[in-house]
Amino acid sequence: MFEQKQKQIIMIVDDSPVNLQILIEVLGDEHEIVFATNGREALAMAEINNPDLILIDIQMPDMSGFEVCKAIKSMPRLEGVPCIFLTGMSQQEDEVAGLKLGAVDYITKPFNPEIVRLRVHNHLELKRYRDERARLALLDGLTGIPNRRAFDDQLSHEWSRALRNQGLLSLIMIDIDHFKSFNDAYGHLGGDDCLKRVATALLASLRASDFVSRYGGEEFVCILPEADEESALITAERIHRNVELLHLPHCGSLVSPFVTISLGVATLMPSHDFVPDYLIEMADQMLYRAKDKGRNRIEHWHQPA
Ligand code: GH3
Ligand code: MG
Ligand code: MG
Repeated sequence: MFEQKQKQIIMIVDDSPVNLQILIEVLGDEHEIVFATNGREALAMAEINNPDLILIDIQMPDMSGFEVCKAIKSMPRLEGVPCIFLTGMSQQEDEVAGLKLGAVDYITKPFNPEIVRLRVHNHLELKRYRDERARLALLDGLTGIPNRRAFDDQLSHEWSRALRNQGLLSLIMIDIDHFKSFNDAYGHLGGDDCLKRVATALLASLRASDFVSRYGGEEFVCILPEADEESALITAERIHRNVELLHLPHCGSLVSPFVTISLGVATLMPSHDFVPDYLIEMADQMLYRAKDKGRNRIEHWHQPA
């Protein structure tokens, strides 16, 4: 699962073209380099390029390296990016101040290419490891699809986006029918396998802009941005059919010889009168209605006009 991504991006901020040139020569072969020659440019570049590591000269006219570092650490998407300060020899006070600001290291000038390479390499390795940990923390270990935590993040993101655009948002809650007796009949490992197959069928049923996660146990949830009731229902029907088409035998089910699911669909236009939990609650109620009515079916709700 350890994903080797392409070259990591280093941003270098230094007002001296000579220093920039040296660092680019030392680091440019192994890494993607972007550079800026002043603080303002650096902030704009950082925003666009999303660097993995930033090297910042402390002494620059206009904005000092400290100010640049502080500003970058206050940007939500970049607060975790490691910063290394570039300092002149015998500027120990600077080093202390830099480390207090959250810099991970410092490199003294004149540059020793080997030291620059090694320090940068070490910090990039740590960054890669942290990124991978963060990625895995959002995935469900069994099925490999996003987990509940990822769902919470995604829903709040889509909720804000729909609020801004005055758009609709739909949710589909999905629960496997009689799954307890599936486990009883085929064992827990058989059950795990079933969950993986169902997750794959869900993924295959969605558009690229939709999102699916494991909500817990044998429950899944889909977020459908900009989907009105009709298109949410079409998606729900496609999901329902695709799971049925897996033709996974289920001798313990009271509703079908194969594994089936029940689905609850809810659609509303986010506004400040509601919180995202309301949409979850309504999809959940519809799921329970589907169970009540005999399972293996879809029930839906949309916000009254
Ligand atoms: P209903 O049709 O009403 O949904 O009935 P059900 O049996 O599916 O629902 P219930 O909530 O009673 O049982 C859910 C079962 O899902 C119980 C639990 O052991 C099983 N389960 C939850 N997580 C996992 C898992 O990760 N792997 C396996 N194999 N089973 C799981
Ligand atoms: Mg169930
Ligand atoms: Mg359940």
